[in-house]
Amino acid sequence: MSIRIDKEKCNGCGLCADICPGNLIKMVGEGKNRKAEMAYPDECWGCMSCVKICPKHAIEFYLGDDIGGQGTSLIAEANHREIDWTACRKGCILEKIITSRQEANKY
Ligand code: SF4
Ligand code: SF4
Repeated sequence: MSIRIDKEKCNGCGLCADICPGNLIKMVGEGKNRKAEMAYPDECWGCMSCVKICPKHAIEFYLGDDIGGQGTSLIAEANHREIDWTACRKGCILEKIITSRQEANKY
């Protein structure tokens, strides 16, 4: 269980590195070549903060075979009202889920 960063999509903004509570993401390179890199994949506990904050949708949360995820990945497209989650496996969309930011965390 960890994240994967698509360096082609990454614009080097650094938001993911700033928000990761474990400081697991490092920024490497300078200028246009500045990119996010997952430095400690074994340490990721899947809080999804980086996935949700990335403005370029460059980060996917990867559910590996080791936890029964069969390579499924989750990507998120967030705006101020909701987050659209998409679960994919081998390039195919398995499920789409929309969560409301206003209604989330209400018990
Ligand atoms: S938040 Fe997204 S675009 Fe910004 S540095 Fe991280 S991966 Fe790149
Ligand atoms: S999912 Fe959470 S712990 Fe894992 S890299 Fe992203 S922000 Fe860090």
